[in-house]
Amino acid sequence: MKVSRVLAPNPSVFTGPGTNTWVVSSEGQAVVIDPGPEIPDHISAIREALDGFEPMAVFVTHTHPDHAPAAEPLARALGVPTIGSAPGPEFRPDRRIAHGDSVACGELVVVAVATPGHTPDSTSYRIEDALFTGDHIMGGSTVIVEDMSDYLASLRVLLDTGLRVIYPGHGSVIEDPDATITEYLAHRLEREAQIVAAVEKGAGTVGEVVESVYVDVDASLHGAAALSVNAHLRKLARDGAVRFPSPGDGWEAAVEPVA
Ligand SMILES: [Zn+2]
Repeated sequence: MKVSRVLAPNPSVFTGPGTNTWVVSSEGQAVVIDPGPEIPDHISAIREALDGFEPMAVFVTHTHPDHAPAAEPLARALGVPTIGSAPGPEFRPDRRIAHGDSVACGELVVVAVATPGHTPDSTSYRIEDALFTGDHIMGGSTVIVEDMSDYLASLRVLLDTGLRVIYPGHGSVIEDPDATITEYLAHRLEREAQIVAAVEKGAGTVGEVVESVYVDVDASLHGAAALSVNAHLRKLARDGAVRFPSPGDGWEAAVEPVA
């Protein structure tokens, strides 16, 4: 198996250097994972990376706009199906797959691993001992999490499963998967403890928790931090560790310690 990266030209604070599109090949056949945004030069670059291989399918880890919109135009041009777990605003998979499904693409066998948390539809793909994680695990930047309970469970499910390498949707290749996943879990649990401590010390809204916990983070990132704090607080409220009555109120949403 050979893995090549085609970096999409969409760098930003959220996408790091840009989206990693992965071309995975074996014995003359290849699949594409996360074709990225619909940028003609990027689609051309993916087709160049496929040169000499028989394309088999285009996989999408989740339907965020930096991962999925190029899937349909690319797959149509190549004459192959798109594969993903769910439709989204700019993506309708030709074939829907669920946790544990495996797809034979010539010599390559691609196994879907449901990893919800970043989004409900987030799916990682395992090929041999490599895992393609989309935004579930990123090489160097912090993942934005919609559902923290799901997210932590989706990290734990990957531990000690014999992974040798992770190819993330953004940033660098991760050569020590178990150590990285363990660090991710520790980081989130530490954050959780800091948030509970901030609430117990009197932070009464999401915004006050952000300002107390993310003191070292530039204020331009406080909006993203608030999403993360909100996800943590929803989990903590379900766990009975804080009271968080109206999470939909965003920055101003009230939070209280449990009596
Ligand atoms: Zn995403």
